Amino acid sequence: MKPILSSLVSLLALTWLSSVISLQIPTPLKHRTPTKLAATEEIDYVNSLLWTPSFKNGERDNKFGTLDKYSEDLSKVLRRKTRTVECGPVKFGSDHPIVRQTMATTNTADVDATVDQVMRCADTGFDLVRITVQGKREANAAMKIREALFKKGYDIPLCADMHFQPLVANMVADAVEKIRINPGNFADGRKDFDEHIYETDEDFASERQYLAEAFIPLVQKCKRLNRAMRIGTNHGSMSSRVLSFYGDTPRGMVESAIEFADICRSQDYHNFVFSMKASNPLVMVQGYRLIAAEQYRLGWDYPLHLGVTEAGDGEDGRMKSAIGIGTLLADGVGDTIRVSLTEDPEFEYAPCNRLAEIAETRLYVPGRPSSSKQDSVPAYEDTRDITSFARRPADLPSQAPGDSVDARGFLHRDGSVVMAVSPGMLAKENAQYLYQSLGCKLAVGMPFKDIATADSVLMRELPEVEDKQARTALRRLQEVNMGVIVPKEELEKRPLENAVALMSLDEAISSSGALPPGAIRLAIELFGSESSESLSQIPSLSPCMIFNNPSSSVSNLHASRRLFESLKSQNSPIPVIHHFTASEITDKNELALQVGMRVGSLLTDGLGDGICLELPSPNPAFTLDYLRTASFSLLQGCRMRSTKTEFVSCPSCGRTLFDLQETTARIQDATGHLPGVTVAVMGCIVNGPGEMADADFGYVGTLPGKVDLYLGKEVVRKNIPNEEAVDGLVELIKEHGMWVEKEEQEGERVAVAN
Ligand code: SF4
Repeated sequence: MKPILSSLVSLLALTWLSSVISLQIPTPLKHRTPTKLAATEEIDYVNSLLWTPSFKNGERDNKFGTLDKYSEDLSKVLRRKTRTVECGPVKFGSDHPIVRQTMATTNTADVDATVDQVMRCADTGFDLVRITVQGKREANAAMKIREALFKKGYDIPLCADMHFQPLVANMVADAVEKIRINPGNFADGRKDFDEHIYETDEDFASERQYLAEAFIPLVQKCKRLNRAMRIGTNHGSMSSRVLSFYGDTPRGMVESAIEFADICRSQDYHNFVFSMKASNPLVMVQGYRLIAAEQYRLGWDYPLHLGVTEAGDGEDGRMKSAIGIGTLLADGVGDTIRVSLTEDPEFEYAPCNRLAEIAETRLYVPGRPSSSKQDSVPAYEDTRDITSFARRPADLPSQAPGDSVDARGFLHRDGSVVMAVSPGMLAKENAQYLYQSLGCKLAVGMPFKDIATADSVLMRELPEVEDKQARTALRRLQEVNMGVIVPKEELEKRPLENAVALMSLDEAISSSGALPPGAIRLAIELFGSESSESLSQIPSLSPCMIFNNPSSSVSNLHASRRLFESLKSQNSPIPVIHHFTASEITDKNELALQVGMRVGSLLTDGLGDGICLELPSPNPAFTLDYLRTASFSLLQGCRMRSTKTEFVSCPSCGRTLFDLQETTARIQDATGHLPGVTVAVMGCIVNGPGEMADADFGYVGTLPGKVDLYLGKEVVRKNIPNEEAVDGLVELIKEHGMWVEKEEQEGERVAVAN
């Protein structure tokens, strides 16, 4: 929300402010103990709750039928129909634009700093800001912050982020427009949650009385004051009760939220949204799809707040967010988004806004290009299973008798990277740079494949046959089992031994897949509008890979899903490489968002085996090295191929106990070269250990200037001074056999050549 400039709007805001302050906010805020109900009343209201029938024993299926959809329409992008939830002047729901939100990183008790930061966020364009409220001191500060913002003309709603503190949540509901509660820890003061094994429905349900008693006072208050609420489940901080009964699963996240929603609904309170966040985009996508699907079958219509937790920073953080958030928005699922970056909150606005903008332009609106693109995809049946994740099985190219190169290296089983290379890059003065840019290790000037080396190259044009230097450079790549993929017409003009010939499906069908001289394998390029009959002929042509390159006149998402349905119906394991042309993209962050959203939305469904990122023309902003790194980041973000350390770093908030951005940078510098290792950097002990989910090692703030180090979820070094903790983390990784030394690269990198 921008500052209120017009006098009319100011008048309205001040009227609302005075009503809020005079009627609802005592100054200073007093601690209010929730009304204690008599024993008989407790039994009455808890017993009168209408719990959603059990998912586990099949009761829900019996009553409501099986899950059948998670979005409004699988062939058109329509917003999932959701009710309007009011949050001060902001409204969530499918009748309203996607709400852009962020979270303050200041100490909430520092009223002036928080007011300043919230104003900066509002000026940047955010619609809502969340602040952390860890106790009564912060609850009192929240009221002062609210008042100060109103006085300065800012009506941007505030959301209090609550963990563990039902009484404080109750207090702060006086001050702010929205409360976020975490079902995993809202009522987790009870010690025996940890000690009990929950095996039966009865056992699991027996704790509900406790939840209801703790939660109902807040629900009643939010209803009375028309406050909004977010039932915000987090994969990393599910209660031990839910973990015991449902395991560490998206299903557990959903069931935990449904219990709290049941309590809200029992009080006839419906002004709430759900979130199902996780740092793993695959888990996150599944959690959101499940809660959407459950709502369809239960007849509920609560909006969804989308977010990937602890996404990190820079382009990786943006890409990871785009993979998770973009995948859901691509199907019209989601009403408000927060991009959690380990950066100042103002920097979250650009990616948050951009994801929302892209999503809005993709909606099916008759007359818009988006609708004709979706209409252009021939009809198909979408049979994806949204209740579990499984990568589509695909076969790597196999070795054939007489092959003089090892075709098995053309692709990688965990996900492949294909780089577009031009003839100029093979020139003598550029060859060393090319090898390095492709991620090769060098030994006496010769390239070797390494952990993050491109698997194949795409050459739309070849160097002349007489150009010995360039041809030698190309042969050296082939000798390390890099595939060289070249259009058939080009191979006919400038033959190349051991090439992979690229053909359109029509070309391949009309020539029965006959290869040009020198080529040893076929790759088929698809543009999205091929007929079903043509698609059905692909397996008989035996290509070693498919290049999925939908044209701009069809919806990439739907055309791609249709292709995979066709391959599935034929049990075809041909690997599919997603081709992405970065047309009209000049900014790295934009590239991360677009690739994450467009290709990530397919890979998160297990649909695809790699990426080829191509520029329509050379662009100094995107070096070959950069495009390769971005490609590997996409595969890692989609949990396919790990080529570097996975960092789970919290975005920081008012609880953070050290300079998270600076510390994360130091840790990344020291430990960023460890593929397969996940390191969590968490700002506080209150939520940090819980939110680390599947990290191998954790670096968690405990006291100002002090850090605990974790091995998995177990603390193994306590209260280490911050300045010594990075070294301590490295030692810990070494002790557990997961350390490798950084390798020195041979020679200096040479100048860029396109
Ligand atoms: S881990 Fe702690 S400091 Fe970091 S965002 Fe979560 S609550 Fe805030």
